[in-house]
Amino acid sequence: MRIILLGPPGAGKGTQAARLMALHGIPQLSTGDMLRAAVKAETPTGLRAKDVMASGQLVSDEIVVGIVAERIEEEDAKGGFILDGFPRTVAQAKALDVMLRQKGKPLDAVIELGVDEDMLAGRIAKRVEETIAAGGTVRLDDNAEAFRVRLAAYRDLTAPVSDYYRQTGQLQRVDGMAPIADVTGQIDTLLSAPAGASLR
Ligand code: AMP
Repeated sequence: MRIILLGPPGAGKGTQAARLMALHGIPQLSTGDMLRAAVKAETPTGLRAKDVMASGQLVSDEIVVGIVAERIEEEDAKGGFILDGFPRTVAQAKALDVMLRQKGKPLDAVIELGVDEDMLAGRIAKRVEETIAAGGTVRLDDNAEAFRVRLAAYRDLTAPVSDYYRQTGQLQRVDGMAPIADVTGQIDTLLSAPAGASLR
């Protein structure tokens, strides 16, 4: 199963991807996590991405598409994957289409987590509190200024990705404001619907 989760920062994509990974036994491919690992390891990609990420802006399509192209070739992704945080631009969505067409492995679902944008800053603040309480490292971009930039990047560059998949007839939506387990349930209902059926 090849799934894309879409939604603004703080919508719960990472949370839902982790739950779907456990339920379906397919890996969560988070471009944000991959980039953070590259920054930590100080790879050439990490060094290029570090300041862009900290500011809340998007890393270049070229870098991100390259990372995903390599990652989906790995053994554990052969049986499917959940893309979390990719594609974030229409150019990335088109590049993904080309990659998957070449492999003869189309997407099974594109699912958008619909959320109330006024609640997102509060969700990020909660994530910071929980990270600190668990003794973890707070993300460099989990602060008010970077969040403002991330939301603007979402509106300008990523919201059109939803339109792109709406036009291809692949976009499906769930209520991302529902409790975590309910959101997972809604997603699972969509995934188990017969091919071609849509609950949009
Ligand atoms: P995330 O963990 O998905 O919130 O991503 C954190 C940051 O990594 C983003 O604000 C971007 O700077 C960068 N990033 C992650 N995924 C992408 C992507 N698909 N395209 C461009 N930049 C990305």
